[in-house]
Formats: sequence, structure tokens, C-alpha cells
Amino acid sequence: MSVPGFDFCDLAAPGIADLQPYQPGKPESELAREYGVSDIVKLASNENPLGPSPRALDAAREALEGMHRYPDGSAHALRTVLAERHGVAPAQITFGNGSNDVLDLVARAFLSPGRSAVFSQHAFAVYPIATVSAGADAIAARANDPGHEQPYGHNLDAMAAAVTGNTRVVFVANPNNPTGTWLGGEALERFLHRVPDDVVVVLDEAYLEYARAGEGYADGTGWIDGHRNLVVTRTFSKSFGLAGLRAGYALSSPEVADLMNRVRHPFNLNSVAQAAAGAALDDTGHMERSVDLNARERERLRSALADRGLRTLPSAANFLCVEVGARAADVNEAFLRRGVILRPLAGYGLPRFLRLSIGTERENDRFLAALDEIRDESLLERSA
Ligand SMILES: *Cc1c(COP(=O)(O)O)cnc(C)c1O
Repeated sequence: MSVPGFDFCDLAAPGIADLQPYQPGKPESELAREYGVSDIVKLASNENPLGPSPRALDAAREALEGMHRYPDGSAHALRTVLAERHGVAPAQITFGNGSNDVLDLVARAFLSPGRSAVFSQHAFAVYPIATVSAGADAIAARANDPGHEQPYGHNLDAMAAAVTGNTRVVFVANPNNPTGTWLGGEALERFLHRVPDDVVVVLDEAYLEYARAGEGYADGTGWIDGHRNLVVTRTFSKSFGLAGLRAGYALSSPEVADLMNRVRHPFNLNSVAQAAAGAALDDTGHMERSVDLNARERERLRSALADRGLRTLPSAANFLCVEVGARAADVNEAFLRRGVILRPLAGYGLPRFLRLSIGTERENDRFLAALDEIRDESLLERSA
């Protein structure tokens, strides 16, 4: 084997060598291997702790029988159901292998070298990855101040001001991950009017089902007719409990959907995911139980953390951003040793915080028990 006389990083397309790979939550099997712990509680990836709908499981099992066939590349059945549900034409839906894939489709359809995308500081890590992968410049707009009522959340004025002549995409997460903060309908509507029509606004609503009850929260589908540059993204990974199957979609004008469809890999939504997603949509009882559990347990955890002097950011999602202080990495490590997987946020510019996904009552109790042990090690700084 010959040894190349150059560094492969020099061969990479501009920007790629400086990208940080997306850091997923540590899988349970990895923690078991590395730490030799069992009875692991994973509260690191904002998954539905109740699991998938039993109806989705049945539909997936049935679909497995046909896995020697290519999937329906247009996902006709699921498309029809979603079009009806959202009151849009079937041609306004674009499917993705998770909504992550849809974000990438937007980037590949609208970004290129010499163009830029705007997103907020402390926003979802996939936005800069999708942007730079398409060769475009990533512009991070200043987030809200720590004292704001939505601390570290999106500052739409700063985002609008960051749009330049070559900006073609703006990514807005509502609610945002990892902060949990959200934007009200009026502010979003003003933003849509302010952003030039030739800039695609991506409204990422991955946590919509949890956020509906949030004060002033508005979902973006009502603005699609009036704004041909708006792309609303949704996922089956969070409240629908299908993260492992990878299913998401976008709602947009047919023109934007047509362009995204041109760069889409054929069969990006597999046949098992298509079947399970359709069945999950039908199981409104499972969704209701999932959202109720989340609201109840999120409040219980918030209040338990406050009792222990720990501040959480306001959250309309299925996780809490908890301020644990300067030794957050050590605190995270202490949780891992106790079999509790959380998400450190230094990579998101929030080095004093850990993100805690809301689990079942039992899982959340495990988290609180571990927290009380860790408190004795005085790694934690009181923040509230
Ligand atoms: C989890 C998440 C997604 C969804 O990712 P999938 O690819 O659909 O699993 C999208 N946006 C944000 C902000 C998220 O946190």
C-alpha cells in the first residue's frame, strides 16, 4: 500500500476539514462497554420514552415481509394521508430519511459556494453541517442574552440583520434544540415579512407536538400559502417514537418541493418507515399519552431541579437545558458512571449546561437519584 505524500484534509472541499462531526447521544451499548455499568437510562437524544405506537410496530412487521422490493419512491399512501391532514396538495410534501435529510435537501437545492445560510447561535448542529457541506458560508446570528425571557434562544432581529445579498437559506428551529426555547407566532410572522422573498426560510418544527401548549406558540403551516419561500419541516423521530426508522418531511410551495425532489436520493424513505409512519399518525391515543407524560414530567423535573438550586431554561420541548456550572463535563462524567446518559453542550457554545431528555417517571427518578449522589461530590454550582 502506498503512503500518500499529502494530507487528505488539503484535498477536502473548502470548509469540510474544519467541520466537527455531529455528536450523537452515547448509545447504551457503548456506555455498557466503556463503563461496565448496567441498568442504563438514556436521556440524551430526545426520544419518546414510551417507545413506538404498538400500531406502528405491527405495520412495520408487516412491511418487513416485502423488504425484497424497492419502496414506493413517492411514498404515495403516506403522502395522501399527510396532504389531507395538513390541507396541502400532495406535491407540497417532500420526504426525507429523517428531517435531517430534508434539511440537507434544502441546502443542496439552494446553497453553493458564494452563497450563505443564516442560523442562530446555540441552534441545531445540523444547520452548519448542511450549509458547509454544500460549499456555502455559515453565518451564526447572535442569540438572546442570558437574561432574556427566552435565554440563549433565537433573536429574530439579529437573524434578519445577518441576511446578506448572497444569503439563500435561513434555518429557524421552533422550539430550538438544545435550548428548548421557542418563538411566538407574531414574531415569526413579522420575520417572514422582513426576510426577502428570494431567501428560503426553513422552519424546523421537530418538537411541534410538545410545543403546541406553549405560550404564544404557533405552527408554521398556516403561512405556507402566503410565503412561497417557507419550508416547514417535521419528523417522526421525536413524539412519534420512530427515531430508528428515519422518517421526516417538509411542507412547502410546490415550486420549492419540486427543486428539493430533484436532488433527493430515490427511495430515501424506506418501506418499513413509510408503513410505520402512517400507522403512527393514526394512533392519536399514543401521541396524547406521550405529550401528557412529557408535560407532567418536564414540570416535575424542572421543579425538582429548582429545589436543588439548579436553573433550567424555559422549554416547550421534551428536554430541559440545565445549568450545572463550570464543571459540566465532570458532572456529565459522574452521571455516566451512574448509568445515566445526558448530552453535554460545550459543542453548542453552552459549556455550563447539560441537556436532559424527559423520560418515563422511573427514568426521571433514576436521574434525580444520581443527581442527589453527585450533589454530595460538590461538582455542581447552584444557578437558581
Ligand atoms: C431531532 C431533531 C430533528 C430531527 O431529526 P431527524 O433527522 O428527523 O431524526 C430536527 N431538528 C431538530 C432541531 C432536532 O432536534
